[in-house]
Amino acid sequence: MSAITLRPGVHLVGSGAAGFDLSDALDCHVYLIEGTTGWAVIDAGSGNDSARIVASIRSVAAARGLDLTQPGTLLLTHGHADHSGGTADLLAAFPTLTAYAGAAAAEWVSRGDLQGISLDRGKASGAYPADYAYGGAAPVLPLAGGETRGFGGRSIRVIAAPGHARGHLCFLLQDNAPGPGSARILFSGDCVFTRGRISLQNLHDVDIPAYANTLAVLDGLNIDALLPGHYSVSLSNAARHIRIAHDAFQAGSVPPNAP
Ligand SMILES: [Zn+2]
Repeated sequence: MSAITLRPGVHLVGSGAAGFDLSDALDCHVYLIEGTTGWAVIDAGSGNDSARIVASIRSVAAARGLDLTQPGTLLLTHGHADHSGGTADLLAAFPTLTAYAGAAAAEWVSRGDLQGISLDRGKASGAYPADYAYGGAAPVLPLAGGETRGFGGRSIRVIAAPGHARGHLCFLLQDNAPGPGSARILFSGDCVFTRGRISLQNLHDVDIPAYANTLAVLDGLNIDALLPGHYSVSLSNAARHIRIAHDAFQAGSVPPNAP
């Protein structure tokens, strides 16, 4: 098993130990979205074993007739190494791919700024092994949030989503693939997970009031599917997960924290 099809034209091509064990243990969920004349990838994994993610993308493309020489868009939800470490590898493997992230994350990843992405703290806490080598220093263009990125006949709305990390973005895909109705699919990175869990860590760029505002915005999207950066996914009726987190913030508390 190298990939899992989650929705029409949306495939899970990487996932680590806090997910489905498709690829390296440190990897976040990595998603491939098919367009008719282009393609997009959400997050890049840790870079520990990018070859497995590259192979998975190639196998889905071969099976689906997706031409990877068409322009591709790599969208990073944020700069943390499990999401951005594979950026350089993916750009090298796919010459037509262009990478984007929130402004702060784009700057940190482009410079390989390990303090900016909190890898120093991640290694000190043991979340990353001491010998983990970050491979992400790679050209990443900034997005502010509010843009709509079109690719291959599909479009993704970029949503500024600070709180877990500065420069965090969520991405909303309006899924008009053949089938009953259309769906609003949210790629939420580490902002919000199923069952309303969030990720608050003692890092330099965590921001609880901003996090609460972000959940208010996401709650207003009335999403159908939630495809986060780790753990389980929700393929329909997913707005309830967002509501749990928003309600906790509204009550003056904080939502349950994912490890
Ligand atoms: Zn993170």
